[in-house]
Amino acid sequence: MSSNCLFCQIVNKKASGEFLYEDNDFVVFKDIHPAAPVHLLLVPKKHIRSINDLKKEDEAIISGLFMIAADMAKKTGVNESGYKLLFNVEKGGGQVIFHLHLHLIGGWPRIDGWKK
Ligand code: 5GP
Ligand code: ZN
Repeated sequence: MSSNCLFCQIVNKKASGEFLYEDNDFVVFKDIHPAAPVHLLLVPKKHIRSINDLKKEDEAIISGLFMIAADMAKKTGVNESGYKLLFNVEKGGGQVIFHLHLHLIGGWPRIDGWKK
């Protein structure tokens, strides 16, 4: 836990945040400024600054994020229509919260439907 990190505070329930999913290692909550009808942030509880700071021991965190992404896509109903998964890395990559998180973005309407 990094005391001046907003996502550490949310993870530790010291800042307001409603979790759509939580287990021992991860939480999922809605982005406060959604870029699409569905915009979730998948956040490991462990404070890791960015993808650049991953260590060998963090492999399970990365695989866990993708497993939860697939699960949350199904739960929010965007799995068939499709969605984007995004890591912003450091300032030049658009990262503004320096606690690792995976964006799940989707749910755009489409007039001709989403049939495969
Ligand atoms: P980044 O640009 O660091 O990859 O993404 C950080 C995201 O966190 C942004 O999309 C921003 O809207 C979101 N965000 C920033 N502050 C808060 C907050 O207090 N609560 C929630 N739920 N999302 C936040
Ligand atoms: Zn943190």
